[in-house]
Amino acid sequence: MQFYSADFMFDGHSFLADGSILVMSDDGIVEDILHNETTHSAKHLKGLLMPGMINAHCHLELSHLKGLIPEHTGLVDFLLSVNAGRHTCSPEQIDEAIVLAEQQMIQNGIVAVGDISNTNDTIRQKQQQQLHYHTFVECVGLLDANAQQRFDNSLNLCREFEKLHPASVVLHAPYSVSDTLIRLVNEVSDKKRTTIHNQECDDENELFLSGNGNFLKLFNAILQDDSFFRASGKNSLQTYLPKLDQQEQLILVHNTVSTEEDIRLAHSLKKELYWCLCPNANRYIENKLPDIPMMMKNDCTMVLGTDSLASNHELSILAEIQTIQYYFPLIPLEEMLRWATSNGANALGMQHTLGSFEKGKKPGMVQVENVVSRDSLPENLVIHYRP
Ligand SMILES: [Zn+2]
Repeated sequence: MQFYSADFMFDGHSFLADGSILVMSDDGIVEDILHNETTHSAKHLKGLLMPGMINAHCHLELSHLKGLIPEHTGLVDFLLSVNAGRHTCSPEQIDEAIVLAEQQMIQNGIVAVGDISNTNDTIRQKQQQQLHYHTFVECVGLLDANAQQRFDNSLNLCREFEKLHPASVVLHAPYSVSDTLIRLVNEVSDKKRTTIHNQECDDENELFLSGNGNFLKLFNAILQDDSFFRASGKNSLQTYLPKLDQQEQLILVHNTVSTEEDIRLAHSLKKELYWCLCPNANRYIENKLPDIPMMMKNDCTMVLGTDSLASNHELSILAEIQTIQYYFPLIPLEEMLRWATSNGANALGMQHTLGSFEKGKKPGMVQVENVVSRDSLPENLVIHYRP
């Protein structure tokens, strides 16, 4: 057994009182947390001690696109660049980038990932079981005529991942799926963890409201046609979310332009909803952030994601917190650490093992050595991960 104390100890929910001692078994299982005990000679760790973090949204298979896609182009041009760049690397380069990206997540104290997959490129690395994964196999398809085929392909891929860990078939984004595809995915979503990219930019809302805007450029680039699209007169979330009536455990990703009205509607429709923030990707693609204080005021359950290395310089949940801290300095660090740990574990259904220092769990320990207060993270982080 090992006994640890730290300058600041965060247990996944809140900061513990000074002098708290974390008792871990030799194989990393939490045995106890002791308060006001002086009998044990605990190993004292400098800085912050916290459970391993959860990256609720990543695309590990896009790691080879690191540094290749220009910043601040807006979502439509970003998606066109990803589409063009996806197949420019050799399988070996793709594999190597996946290995390095996973390694980086481990070094940055991440223990579990909600990972979007369109291919089986990540299977080999995921077989190593160095991280916990929930793989979300993504369906994309604008035309109803192709929906069944797209769905069947995703379902087959999902079965491959399910041999390794929990996986589910999900929709990519409101603007990239036909009504038939929405129906097919919805029908297999009962009791499944699901996710969707939500309201990432104003163009997305504009498309559904009026049928105009930048997304027509995307449709024409991919299909040389935009006549299939019908506007609903409502914005993106208000159009698609009522159709997903089987998706009870849903992670909405980005939410960059979600409003108070959208949040109220979403909360009225869903029992278990998570709002995933990917601030560094938002800055990379749109150079814009969601109204996080407004989301907090409206009781959004928040989680954090890195998105992929196509739209981020690194895969680090603490770096996402640093960005939020920079733009919204009044948000308490304790709150953001909760998003990064226990909330993320709940969102991926991994709360029985991960996300907090509670008896019987095996959450991993992360020491951020140079933290000097409970209020903020320092600029340059010194992170040690202890499995
Ligand atoms: Zn994404």
